[in-house]
Amino acid sequence: MITLAGVLQEAENQLLQAGVEEAKLDAWYLAMECFGISRTDYYMNPNREIEEEQYARFKTMIEARAKRIPYQYLINQQEFMGLQFYVNENVLIPRQDTEVLVELAMKQADDADILDMCTGSGCIILSLGKLCKPKSLTAVDISSEALEVAKKNARNLEVPVTFIESNVFDKVTGTYDIIVSNPPYIPTKVIEELMPEVKEHEPMLALDGLEDGLHFYRILAKEAYKYLRKDGYIFLEIGHNQGEDVKNLLMDAGFTEVNIVKDLPGHDRVVVGKIQGD
Ligand code: GLN
Repeated sequence: MITLAGVLQEAENQLLQAGVEEAKLDAWYLAMECFGISRTDYYMNPNREIEEEQYARFKTMIEARAKRIPYQYLINQQEFMGLQFYVNENVLIPRQDTEVLVELAMKQADDADILDMCTGSGCIILSLGKLCKPKSLTAVDISSEALEVAKKNARNLEVPVTFIESNVFDKVTGTYDIIVSNPPYIPTKVIEELMPEVKEHEPMLALDGLEDGLHFYRILAKEAYKYLRKDGYIFLEIGHNQGEDVKNLLMDAGFTEVNIVKDLPGHDRVVVGKIQGD
């Protein structure tokens, strides 16, 4: 008899052997998807028998996970700000770290025209649209495949967004009260050191910040003031060691009240800048 407990243990062992860090947890996420059960269901009856067909699907998914494909791409889902986002290999998987940026931007978002540069799955701009009352939302990405995902999420969450396919600001017009961005910020030479899940399966376009990782911040700092109204804000996610550099880029570009904000584990995570009014 094939039992749930047996199948979970077997999956955990297979993932551990493949070098997956969170083997038990990942086996759980995939089991919940394939067998349609919650953890409570499991604890109430760990030795429940499972169906052949569901087991076959689970085995295929565990094999894919053992090849270091992130489980989020296998179940096509990631939660962010309490909302469910569709994801596939064309977009970065939304990270909890990025919620810090959203929480900060939420304080200014009501009645604002907001632009999201490098929107990916759309997790930032759609969270702001769902949780606040902005005047308008505009989302930019260079990748048409990523924009397809963001559009699907906008439909699912029923948030109206104007999408622009553009290499940074090339095709952007108009002015905004807020710019938010989690641009690619990993220096090219550091990408080699990332986990296989990230370097082999997440889109390189979403990760590679070129040379020293600051390429997109230079563009954002230089161009943003053309698109921001007076008293407008910019919120930028950064790598933990990029705070001072990005702060300086914004100050050199004429931003005032530039602050570095930490994430929950205490690492620098967001730089906020304000364009001074008259
Ligand atoms: N804005 C998206 C996110 O925060 C994508 C970011 C990116 O592709 N660099 O997840």
